[in-house]
Amino acid sequence: GPLLDLGAEVFPDRPAYSVVLPNGAHATLSFAEVKAYSDAIAFYLRRVAGLPPGTAVAVMAPNCLAFPVVAKGIIKAGLIFTGINPLYTPREAQHQLADSRARVLFIIDLFGGALDQILADTAVTRVVRLSLADLMPVAKAVLVRTALRLKGLAPKPDRRTIPLDTLVREGRRAAADEPAGVAALFADRPVDEPLLYQYTSGTTGRSKGAAMSERNVIANASQTHHHNGELYEPGVETGLVVMPLYHVMALTFALIQAPRTAMHCVLAPQPRPLSNLRPAFERFDITVLPGINTLFQALMTEPWFADRPPDRLKLCLSGAAPLQKSTRERWETMTGCPIYEGYGLTEGTCVVTFPKLGEPQRHGTVGHPLPGTEIKLVDDTGQVVPRGRPGEVVVRGPQVVLGYLNQPDATGETIRDGWLHTGDIGVIDEDGALRIVDRKKDMIIVSGFNVYPAEVEDVLAQLPGVAQAAVIGVPSEATGEAVEAFVVKADPALDEAAVLRHCTAHLTNYKRPRRVHFVADLPKSPVGKILRRQLRDQAGAERS
Ligand code: ATP
Repeated sequence: GPLLDLGAEVFPDRPAYSVVLPNGAHATLSFAEVKAYSDAIAFYLRRVAGLPPGTAVAVMAPNCLAFPVVAKGIIKAGLIFTGINPLYTPREAQHQLADSRARVLFIIDLFGGALDQILADTAVTRVVRLSLADLMPVAKAVLVRTALRLKGLAPKPDRRTIPLDTLVREGRRAAADEPAGVAALFADRPVDEPLLYQYTSGTTGRSKGAAMSERNVIANASQTHHHNGELYEPGVETGLVVMPLYHVMALTFALIQAPRTAMHCVLAPQPRPLSNLRPAFERFDITVLPGINTLFQALMTEPWFADRPPDRLKLCLSGAAPLQKSTRERWETMTGCPIYEGYGLTEGTCVVTFPKLGEPQRHGTVGHPLPGTEIKLVDDTGQVVPRGRPGEVVVRGPQVVLGYLNQPDATGETIRDGWLHTGDIGVIDEDGALRIVDRKKDMIIVSGFNVYPAEVEDVLAQLPGVAQAAVIGVPSEATGEAVEAFVVKADPALDEAAVLRHCTAHLTNYKRPRRVHFVADLPKSPVGKILRRQLRDQAGAERS
């Protein structure tokens, strides 16, 4: 509870969140405003909607001013927040709502007729509609609504939905009767009960709901702050949040880590096409950029970015997928700002290992375990592998989540005696730094040899004519599986022979792709992860 209002106590008038729309329209809320609005939302949920503590409340929206404010309101109310990917189809959204037993849904107001399908067989009794114009000053809100209407993005409000303004007004009225303030709502919440139902990305299959406690969240925030906090100057930094707030990385950054040092977070609601980000970089002096390999890679191909890279950038943080060598080197040359790569996962409340900021990071390593975190590498029988050998990364620490929602079997398989089995293969270097080799599920076995797509992709991305690359395994009569590559060209003249020549020079025989598919783009999740399972389907369809 109090953790969420840190910025408000010390820097009430500092900007807390800004939103920048693709057309350049922008608006800002101060830490004091965020506190006031989120308190009102908390009171509404508990006192007007009458939700008992421990009830789930869902938010399905892109990054906008209302998102962090509503999320804080839910948590301060002693309720459980769950964020739904706003690009989900009604069927997928319905699944998460039903699975989390959410009673209230905050939803961006574009769904109109789909609402029936989204709400069918769920416990939702109230729907609050959100808009990109919410919490903006009136004059700006009018302009934003007009612009949205012109783009054919006019809301289709449903009579059953409540606008956010109404909710804030009623919440304020309810708050007036309670002099003890919002702390009273949160006070009796046990620290080991769930605070968030954070769904995994669904990169490898159907997304699972991880139940995270207040202890998990506070521990992980303290661990990362203890490790790296001194590099953030309180009340000075501005972070750009491009990754979606429903995902653990952006959520913990914008909601918990940033307020600790009163960092201003600029939210980008619609990062694709990337030219949409231009006004955010032009209007704000961005000093901190959390991202993922595909984001850094793609930004450098935007002429407006490459011609005038941001000059106040101080820290770029990479996670969620491997950072490629070519990305790091080109980015650092272009912007003069280092990228630090950490490792984590939803089941570990976000961060498990991180490098020490301010010290050069050896490429390929993802830092050391955070304070209070233990890591072991084990083989399939659970035995610890010798130093320097690859094994599955298993983690123990205060950030290991309570378990998956409604999935006792999956929980039992993933968390054994307090050790989280990550499904990632890693190697521990002599100095104790971790390297992530790849996901166990993506490993390709060629004639009995293990091939990790990430290594091959890293090599491919170093060829100057390659803009993006992904590698998968396909069935092969001769070798069991064979490697195939998908490549997006940076140079139209690039051909298969050149790619294969480059691979021959840098990879041993069994790791080399047998075939190169040139494609216009690679399938990615909204977080920016490459969806290799879609590529496997595509390759399968091409064969049959
Ligand atoms: P699902 O479990 O639903 O398939 P997901 O695993 O992508 O989705 P997340 O919790 O978003 O869900 O992602 C965590 C995973 O991201 C890790 O298990 C790991 O495979 C990958 N990852 C995170 N950081 C890194 C990194 N620095 N290098 C390589 N992989 C990383």
